[in-house]
Amino acid sequence: MDFNDSPQEAAFRAQAKAWLAGHAPAHELTPGEKIPDTEEAERSRAWMRELSRGSWSGLTFPKALGGQGLSGAEALIFAEEEACYNLPKGPFISIGTGMALPVIAKHGNDEQRERFIEATLNGDLTWCQLFSEPAAGSDLAGLRTKAVRADDGSEDWIVNGQKVWSSWAHLTDWGILVVRTDPKMPKHKGLTFFVVDMKTPGIETRPIRQISGASEFNETFFTDVRIPDSNRIGAVGEGWACCMTVLMGERLGSGSYKSEIGPLLAFAQETPDGKGGSMFDDGAVRQSLAEALADEQGERWFQARLRTMVSKGENPGALAGMVKLAYAARYQKTSGLGMELRGLDAIAPDPRDAATADLQYDYIYSTVMRIAGGADEVLRNQIAERLLGMPGEIRMDKDVPFDELR
Ligand SMILES: Cc1cc2nc3c(=O)[nH]c(=O)nc-3n(C[C@H](O)[C@H](O)[C@H](O)COP(=O)(O)OP(=O)(O)OC[C@H]3O[C@@H](n4cnc5c(N)ncnc54)[C@H](O)[C@@H]3O)c2cc1C
Repeated sequence: MDFNDSPQEAAFRAQAKAWLAGHAPAHELTPGEKIPDTEEAERSRAWMRELSRGSWSGLTFPKALGGQGLSGAEALIFAEEEACYNLPKGPFISIGTGMALPVIAKHGNDEQRERFIEATLNGDLTWCQLFSEPAAGSDLAGLRTKAVRADDGSEDWIVNGQKVWSSWAHLTDWGILVVRTDPKMPKHKGLTFFVVDMKTPGIETRPIRQISGASEFNETFFTDVRIPDSNRIGAVGEGWACCMTVLMGERLGSGSYKSEIGPLLAFAQETPDGKGGSMFDDGAVRQSLAEALADEQGERWFQARLRTMVSKGENPGALAGMVKLAYAARYQKTSGLGMELRGLDAIAPDPRDAATADLQYDYIYSTVMRIAGGADEVLRNQIAERLLGMPGEIRMDKDVPFDELR
């Protein structure tokens, strides 16, 4: 792989840069300022609409499905240029474009693709992920929310149960939902996948307050929620395959497109050491920054390799877990280093110092990435078993009907 842009890629980058310079600044968030999530959601939709008007949304989606049909490398270039701006484009958007759309495109039918893909790329539909439950997180196939056919002769399903950690569920339009439809089957086999309108009667979202002060995610309760069979994605009992497609999208989407070390290098170079030099003259500081830079570069090129695989139609499998694992650890380490370099100023930042306020938020938030989308330990298990060929974890519940498990 050549890490430099080819002439065509350089031309594409220039085109992306020029379009972004004309359209992105009006949508940027103010550094250091946390706005209410309702406002962030509206601004995210507005940016999606802008991208769509400019034909920059759904870059790798086939044209026939409403995307731009571009390569993984081009999507990466656009993402890098987009990341130069502080745009509202977090999970509120990425759950739809990076997780819901791939599953609808791969496992859905034409009518579903027609109904959901373009509307999501336009910013008209947003999505949440309704997977985790109080007793089904790492062990997702242990979920208990159940769906049974309605007894009125319709093909509808009636859903009862509870989900948890549903990011942005209180503000999004639709959810991707996995439920148990056959408890007589072993736990991975009796699952079915749906899309659900979050305004359906019987759905209640209760926000959970986080250590950062935000409440981005919810407990979501389902009480006799009626879902038409036309909202089923894939075959009855084949929900696990759909979940794997979603998790692949989630893991491949982790990582950052802009250097987080660049600002730390600049900070060390600009901060006087009190001895006539700068903090950057300290050997220990240089060592830490060098290590962090190496981690970041390694993660970035590995991510580029996986995107290249995907654009060639190859399946990265458990490799996608590696990029998520590396990113989560690096993000936490880098924001910790930023806090250390700032010393006491990081704990009580000057209100005018937006960069430190952002870093402080990142430092607190960074812990979640080691859990969300698959905990470190579980990803390590998968890498050990599927990539390194090490002995698998003992699974007593593998072929046992779900309703016989204790
Ligand atoms: C910020 C954030 C956003 C999220 N958003 C969503 C969302 O939108 N939708 C959604 O459905 N879910 C969401 N989640 C939930 C997330 O997917 C789960 O938290 C995650 O899968 C871990 O599950 P758990 O919290 O139940 O922990 P558990 O599964 O109870 O794990 C607890 C600990 O035990 C370890 N462990 C468990 N099993 C094993 C094993 N076999 N081997 C070794 N160690 C093990 C884990 O690694 C972890 O350290 C979100 C989580 C976070 C933090």
